[in-house]
Amino acid sequence: MGTLTANLRWSWHPETQDLFAAVDPELWERCGSDPVRLLGEVPPERLDALAENEEFLVRLDAAAADLDHYLSRPRWYQQQQERGTAVPAGIAYFSMEFGVSEVLPNYSGGLGILAGDHLKAASDLGLPLIGVGLLYRSGYFRQSLSADGWQVEHYPAYDPQGLPIKLLTEADGSTALVQVEIPGGRTLDARVWIAQIGRVPLLLLDSDIASNDEELRGVTDRLYGGDQDHRIKQEILAGIGGVRAVRAYTRIAGLPDPDVFHMNEGHAGFLGAERIRELVTGTGLDFDEALAAVRAGTVFTTHTPVPAGIDRFPIDLVRHYFSGRNGENESALLPGLTVDRILALGRESDPDVFNMAHLGLRLGQRCNGVSKLHGAVSRNMFEELWPGFDATEVPIGSVTNGVHAPTWAAREWLALADRLAGPDLVEESRGWELLQTVDARELWEMRNTLRSMLVEEVRRRLRNSWIERGATEAELGWVDSVFEPGVLTIGFARRVPTYKRLTLMLRDPERLRALLLDPERPLQLVVAGKSHPADDGGKALIQQVVRFADEYDVRHRVVFLPDYDMSMARYLYWGCDVWLNNPLRPLEACGTSGMKSALNGGLNLSIRDGWWDEMYDGENGWAIPTADGVDDVRRDDLEANALYELLERSVLPRFYDRDGDGVPGRWIEMVRHTLENLGPKVLASRMVRDYAVDYYIPAAAAARSVAADDFAGAKAVAEYRERLEAAWPSVRVAQVDTEGLPEVPEIGSRLAVTAHVELGALAPDDVEVQAVIGRVGSDDSLSDIVSIPMTHTGKGSFGEVFEADVRLPLAGPVGYTVRVLPHHDLLASPAEFGMVRLP
Ligand SMILES: *Cc1c(COP(=O)(O)O)cnc(C)c1O
Repeated sequence: MGTLTANLRWSWHPETQDLFAAVDPELWERCGSDPVRLLGEVPPERLDALAENEEFLVRLDAAAADLDHYLSRPRWYQQQQERGTAVPAGIAYFSMEFGVSEVLPNYSGGLGILAGDHLKAASDLGLPLIGVGLLYRSGYFRQSLSADGWQVEHYPAYDPQGLPIKLLTEADGSTALVQVEIPGGRTLDARVWIAQIGRVPLLLLDSDIASNDEELRGVTDRLYGGDQDHRIKQEILAGIGGVRAVRAYTRIAGLPDPDVFHMNEGHAGFLGAERIRELVTGTGLDFDEALAAVRAGTVFTTHTPVPAGIDRFPIDLVRHYFSGRNGENESALLPGLTVDRILALGRESDPDVFNMAHLGLRLGQRCNGVSKLHGAVSRNMFEELWPGFDATEVPIGSVTNGVHAPTWAAREWLALADRLAGPDLVEESRGWELLQTVDARELWEMRNTLRSMLVEEVRRRLRNSWIERGATEAELGWVDSVFEPGVLTIGFARRVPTYKRLTLMLRDPERLRALLLDPERPLQLVVAGKSHPADDGGKALIQQVVRFADEYDVRHRVVFLPDYDMSMARYLYWGCDVWLNNPLRPLEACGTSGMKSALNGGLNLSIRDGWWDEMYDGENGWAIPTADGVDDVRRDDLEANALYELLERSVLPRFYDRDGDGVPGRWIEMVRHTLENLGPKVLASRMVRDYAVDYYIPAAAAARSVAADDFAGAKAVAEYRERLEAAWPSVRVAQVDTEGLPEVPEIGSRLAVTAHVELGALAPDDVEVQAVIGRVGSDDSLSDIVSIPMTHTGKGSFGEVFEADVRLPLAGPVGYTVRVLPHHDLLASPAEFGMVRLP
């Protein structure tokens, strides 16, 4: 039993959960489905009885064998390896939060749950990934409501003994310790807990130990609590301490060192500075060589589409933590590195600020946003780091987020998938077309079952909430008739920052009321979400919803459920017919809750933002038209109006339009289409494969190239960069000649371009010269550009000569130019250094 509870794989394996429940069904329920608590509380007599129970023992053996099989069977990664792909030896994945299961409450919302899903999918695919983060004594806060609907925060302290984690210990049994130096000659110590997520270990650093003073014990007290000083200590521990924890873990476990380091958002960015230090002190590289080596193996994922959302510190605060003893320029925290070089890594336009996203972009040779739209938004937002380049050329790609199906799809759906195509259907992006063979009635029954479960859960939670708000049982008889199993159910649950517009649906309360109370075609609405404790504006929005939901005439049709977390979210994704999302476009980087709903046959009703911008296809849900560019107040009016209209004219009629046998045929066809079309695209396994193929494998290859032969590659890149920077001022496009451009250019017209380029001390191979063709705008700028590499053909009177024979990619008023870019085999993109020379 211990092996089964020790691996969180049980959290996405219903059969193992059934086994735990069989130990003591009532206690299982009371323990919130937490097997560690269950085993702590179950009476010894019960365990003795089970030890004699043949049937139970057979099930126990079967579950243990299944776990063994899961952990040892070759998976996708091993197949790549067998095919000869040079896969990474290890990947360290850093995140400030991880939402793996509600029994390990170490997350606040989407970012953390995404990280949890990433670990689970990496485990399913067999990737040698190690998660790294912090263990927060109180996690994020728990939410309840006051009588008048104001958010109240609670910070229960979790005892690590009661969590599904174990300490990292040295061979002699002593606790492994990680230390980082902080000003005043002190050290911040941390122990390391390991949560086992299938095949993937998650290392969580914990500063709450006796060797730290009170202040330092508190470093890992809460997620996203405290001031900037508290936060930078957390980020130093996560980044620098995190690398040290990885080193301790791989040393003790006898595993290879990871060759790829992935930062899930910039919070753990200091990990790159630590790895530079390791190389400088361990192998004698200089800073630039070490930087080149670190960049090659680093992947940075940004999640923040607004500058205001980016993690930034006052430069003096960073200087304080990284400075030398007695004001020397050598950092005490990272000996061997100078403070100036460290500070320069996070430089931005404001000289008083250290920018963690810029740090990530400078440290990661490969960077990405989390949906196609967010990739484009990020390229624009960070353009300043690549001056002279078109935003479309900024080397930030995208990997659209995904969700872990076995965690988020109801077991009824997983059972159907199993019946149709075998157990791996949902994780292998195949077999979804078999849904065509399922009878519409069966799909409708499934939706009804899941909606009924949600209705029960809504009543249970609403009752508890009212009791917390001071009501007595006797007053709460009405709660038993809140919601109806047959009524169209809309869900809206997410954190409450302004851009998510929790209250857009309340823009015209009377119109919403009419929809809720329609005698023929009513709808019911379940709302949930936490506001950041410091955000009173968000709390006021929650209060507005709660007050509306408290009103006597609508309280049976609209509810606000406090304490949105994974245990609640599950019921919402299973049971809601429609998942509503109305962010201010393009501020939702991706969004994942709608994907979880889609995996359960929920239809999305959403602004075309994040993932929905690329995956909405006209038949898998509804797009709320967005009024981009209109001022915010009017925009809210327009978009709210569009939302009501869609509900009135399309969503509700379709749901209530029934065939002879009571099935809403057209609705079910949308459900079927959603599952079939979105199912394979929204999977976390698809996401992790994308990361593996497009980021991890190339990064591991690059890391090997720069490290081989005593870091010859890293030294070559650093030497090249230095030479390039020295020579760049004398690089000049001296003359450009063209031949053949017709009066009226047509697509395919030929154009011969010849350029004379002065290269100073550089050789022709050190650069790539490109002909750039584009549409000419009124200000002479080029757009829709296409760049064509030019060939070096010799030396002319004005420098080196490069030529290209170009076929026009566009018609109409085209313009062209020639530019010079760095060229080196170890660069991932010619834009990498942000250097370009135009005529
Ligand atoms: C999926 C999930 C989120 C993130 O949802 P978004 O659509 O990204 O807002 C937040 N909280 C919980 C509990 C979730 O399950």
